[in-house]
Amino acid sequence: MPSKRRSSKRPYGQPHPELDVDRVANATGGRRETGPGGEEHIVVTPRPSDKTYTCPGCGRDIDGATQHLVAWPADGLFGAEAAAATRRHWHTHCWNTFGRTRG
Ligand SMILES: [Zn+2]
Repeated sequence: MPSKRRSSKRPYGQPHPELDVDRVANATGGRRETGPGGEEHIVVTPRPSDKTYTCPGCGRDIDGATQHLVAWPADGLFGAEAAAATRRHWHTHCWNTFGRTRG
C-alpha cells in the first residue's frame, strides 16, 4: 500500500496552466496592484461579513464589517486559482503602506 504523504508543498509535475489573471480579476471584481515587495497582486474589496481576520501587515484583527481588502499574488507559481487560495485580508491602510517606502 503506497503511502501518500501530504506535505505542505504541491507535487511537481502538475500542469502549469497559463495564468489568466485578468479573467480572475474580472470574475472577482478585482484590480491589479503592486503589493508589498513589488509583486503584482489582485486586490478585491470583500463584502462585509461577521468574520474576523488577521491583518498580515500589523497582525491585528480586522472586523469583517469594516471595509478592508483582500489581496493575493497575481503570478502564483501554481496558477491563479491556487494563488487566490492564499489570499489574505488586509486593513486598507496596511496594504497601502506595508513594505513600501514612499516619500
Ligand atoms: Zn493592519
